Parts: sequence; structure tokens; C-alpha cells
Amino acid sequence: MTEPSIFTRILGGDIPGEIIAETDRLFAIRDIAPQAPVHLLVIPKTEQYRDVTELAAGDPALLAELTAFAKDLAAEHSDGDFRLIFNIGANAGQTVFHVHAHILAGGLTEKSVGA
Ligand code: 5GP
Repeated sequence: MTEPSIFTRILGGDIPGEIIAETDRLFAIRDIAPQAPVHLLVIPKTEQYRDVTELAAGDPALLAELTAFAKDLAAEHSDGDFRLIFNIGANAGQTVFHVHAHILAGGLTEKSVGA
């Protein structure tokens, strides 16, 4: 058995973390180390997909739900414009291997694509 991911532990209430929104299959939290005025994470409740390529192959409908949920959150927490970023692999900066999207919004002025 592998250990539950940090996001699964937040979802389960095992470690602190405010769930700011959820659907039946997704939840959202604020990133603990924000890289923009609004920096949210949108996370499938299942941790069976390690990254977005696995999610797209395994459950494309859930990926579509994730993007729609992200759009709603960006409208609620900022002006509706946002960057949606998935890091894929440790060399690209992925540190949690439970698929999640970064929503970056609010006062984004540079063209940088990094999260
Ligand atoms: P990754 O680098 O895998 O794309 O993104 C993981 C993100 O999770 C990082 O931006 C990191 O700041 C965030 N993170 C790591 N641990 C915690 C935590 O315990 N609580 C919250 N809210 N965010 C976390």
C-alpha cells in the first residue's frame, strides 16, 4: 500500500486545509505557497491518476469537469481570466503525484508560463 497523497489527507481532514469548493468528484484548496494573488488548486477526489496525461487517457469527462470547475472558481475568486497549469513530472516541477491543476489569477502581468 502506498501512502495517501497530501491532497487525499487534506480531503479526509487528516491534515489542515480549507476546502473552498467541491463537487461530487473534485475539490479546491488555496495553494500553501501562492505564486499569484489568487492561486488555487483543483484536484480530483480520486488519486488514481498521477498527472493530467493519465487523467485525460483514463477519464476525459473528469478532465472536462475540472476545467469547467476551474472556470467557475476563477470567476468567483477573480475577474474570470486565469492560467490553468499542470506540472507533469519532477523535472517540470511536479511535487505531488496526485493530479491537480493550478489556477493562477489576479494581477498577472508577465507572460511567464511557470506556476
Ligand atoms: P506541483 O508542484 O506538484 O505542481 O504542485 C503542488 C502544489 O501543492 C505546490 O504548489 C505546493 O505549494 C502545494 N502544496 C503542497 N503541500 C500543501 C499543503 O499541505 N497544503 C496546500 N494548501 N498546498 C500544498
